[in-house]
Amino acid sequence: MQEISLGGGGGMAQPFAVRRMRIALVGSGTAGPAAAILLARQGHEVVVYERAPDCRPVGAGFLLQPSGMGVLDELGILAPILRHGARVDRLHIMESDGRDLLDLRYQKMGEGRFGLGLHRPVLLHYLLEAAAEEGVPVHWGHEVLSAKRETEGWRLRFVEQEDACRFDLLLIGDGARSTLRDQLKPAAVNRGYPWGAHWFIGRSDGSFPAHELHQIVRGTRQLAGFLPTGFELGKTDHPFRFKLNVICSR
Ligand SMILES: Cc1cc2nc3c(=O)[nH]c(=O)nc-3n(C[C@H](O)[C@H](O)[C@H](O)COP(=O)(O)OP(=O)(O)OC[C@H]3O[C@@H](n4cnc5c(N)ncnc54)[C@H](O)[C@@H]3O)c2cc1C
Repeated sequence: MQEISLGGGGGMAQPFAVRRMRIALVGSGTAGPAAAILLARQGHEVVVYERAPDCRPVGAGFLLQPSGMGVLDELGILAPILRHGARVDRLHIMESDGRDLLDLRYQKMGEGRFGLGLHRPVLLHYLLEAAAEEGVPVHWGHEVLSAKRETEGWRLRFVEQEDACRFDLLLIGDGARSTLRDQLKPAAVNRGYPWGAHWFIGRSDGSFPAHELHQIVRGTRQLAGFLPTGFELGKTDHPFRFKLNVICSR
């Protein structure tokens, strides 16, 4: 086993040796590639397994908070993402009878603070690009059915085949409906998510403020909203902003 050194990069932390690990990461959503990049930069060997057949643009819009942008900055991918996104200065949520439920202005949280409306494929694209630069392979079309800890390490079983590889560490980033989490940690609380969302992306006609997430709720079960999502991947010179409509219902 090779040892790698962490910490001591200019701050108060003392360098400490960590065993270089072979790590399996399940899921290439948001958390998976971000964790893979950071771990690979620490010197670990990381392999990502994703059940989607290939890397296609999926998903609708996304509102990034300042804390999330801080992580993207650390990953070194904030600048291109900012070029694609739409600045959001205000979160405005109203009841269906017109009363304000929430009216949050980022500026009040601190000078220069804002949220960022984004197309999900933009985020995934830059995460995967950075992961590739760190030499992290992503195996598409690999649905992990189960994982078992043996004396030589973690062994994964896929829908199609059994992986001969063994891993020192298994990280599960397979989303809110994780089946692996339930298998490996049965005591974990997993309430499921009984809600659905309909969404579309279209061009704004200017009826809604360009820098605001605008939502209308009826009770706790119905929500409709518009989010400026900026530009599609590779189309930062496109003159139109897109907006997302989300309606959730049981
Ligand atoms: C309608 C809606 C709107 C949202 N809007 C926002 C928002 O505006 N801002 C925000 O910050 N968050 C938002 N969220 C939450 C956000 O989407 C999640 O917090 C985030 O996607 C979680 O990332 P993740 O990587 O953990 O999981 P996911 O993004 O769900 O990724 C999990 C990945 O694992 C893969 N996978 C699953 N099982 C397996 C398996 N067995 N083997 C291999 N691969 C597997 C899946 O295919 C998927 O690619 C929203 C969620 C919903 C439902």
